[in-house]
Amino acid sequence: MQYFSLHKKAAVVSFREAVIRGLAPDRGLYYPTEIKPLAESFIQSIEAFSDHEIAFEVIKQFVGDDIPLPDLHRIVKEVLTFDFPLVEIEPGIFSLELFHGPTLAFKDVGARFMARCLGYFNRDESKAEKVTVLVATSGDTGGAVANGFYEVDGVEVVILYPSGKVSDIQEKQLTTLGKNIRALEVSGNFDDCQAMVKKAFLDEDFEGKVKLTSANSINVARWLPQMFYYFIAYKKLKKEGKPIVFSVPSGNFGNICAGMMAQKIGLPVAHFITGTNANNIVPQYLKTGDYTSRETIATIANAMDVAAPSNFIRIEELHNHNIENLRNNLSGYSYSDKETRAAMNSLFSEFDYIADPHGAIGYSALKDYIKETGFDGLGVFLETAHPVKFLDVIPKEITEKIILPQAIANIVHKEKIAGKISTYSQLKSSLLSG
Ligand SMILES: *Cc1c(COP(=O)(O)O)cnc(C)c1O
Repeated sequence: MQYFSLHKKAAVVSFREAVIRGLAPDRGLYYPTEIKPLAESFIQSIEAFSDHEIAFEVIKQFVGDDIPLPDLHRIVKEVLTFDFPLVEIEPGIFSLELFHGPTLAFKDVGARFMARCLGYFNRDESKAEKVTVLVATSGDTGGAVANGFYEVDGVEVVILYPSGKVSDIQEKQLTTLGKNIRALEVSGNFDDCQAMVKKAFLDEDFEGKVKLTSANSINVARWLPQMFYYFIAYKKLKKEGKPIVFSVPSGNFGNICAGMMAQKIGLPVAHFITGTNANNIVPQYLKTGDYTSRETIATIANAMDVAAPSNFIRIEELHNHNIENLRNNLSGYSYSDKETRAAMNSLFSEFDYIADPHGAIGYSALKDYIKETGFDGLGVFLETAHPVKFLDVIPKEITEKIILPQAIANIVHKEKIAGKISTYSQLKSSLLSG
């Protein structure tokens, strides 16, 4: 499989090179040159496949010849060692729980897949070149990447996070591992962190000194494995024989874009819904056609505090850059913190379900879509993080009921180790000094 840059000014590359580079040299995101639908017989008989067999079928065309099939099979099996339960909240409305991985974040899947691909590309140590994974996190990516890459040979990880804008537990997840994982606390917001990362990738001063790659959802190895969730949910719902819509709480729009890629290769999805926090550029665009980005707004769903979503360009590509095509496949709604808290409260009081702020936004968007359209098939909202990671913003009556998972209990008392930076030149000297 080959990938081209969506800025169209860089050379076409293989999967391997797209993973190692992250972003194309012209700053464009990589996108597959050719997308083949899966065999209809596979979709028809999907119940017969295990989760990792589904994942293998779904991802193999995107990897192509760069990883031999038996190795790819082993990789997806190692990635998917936890479940993705589908919990019916009220009739026809399901929470797809994506937070049962090691860092309790849906990003565990992409991070673990990407780490194993890089590990494979670096398998021959005599030829291996040390790579530095540079990543900006708005909260959840950091922990998932840190955990996914921890102790992977030949890979150093540097994580930038906005000071004071991630939860205490999230901060512990990315600052307490040590070894090949380094955390840098940035005075600024997530967009500032992301801007520094993008600048570093284009900085020629690193050439021949530090080999940088990204692990944000711009990286194809983080983005594409997210297709698995949608296929796994479909497998569980297919027998009901009703149309299915997915509601995805979105920030950088990588997860929902993977869902749309799943649809493109044949997954029957009737419609997508996106829920955002106050950073509502996409819902605003769908409504008015105006795609003007503003300053990032800090919210209680902080993993989605993104003003300029990187993956939106891939979504446009999937819809031929035509807003009407997009409107036919995607609806968008945005929510204030007050509305998000109200949704968490009503999920808890009416259905005894504890959602985190992001999942609550996905739920709200699904309900609003159903109210607006009268849709009467099955609605699935993606619950993207365990509520324990957002204790400080979940109403008190609810947090009292949350049981601390072992993975978190093990790290809360560990000491935070992070460097502090506020400018790009500080990041640069930190990277150059190793
Ligand atoms: C990253 C994240 C999101 C947003 O996912 P995107 O792919 O960036 O749209 C939503 N919820 C949680 C908990 C996240 O960590």
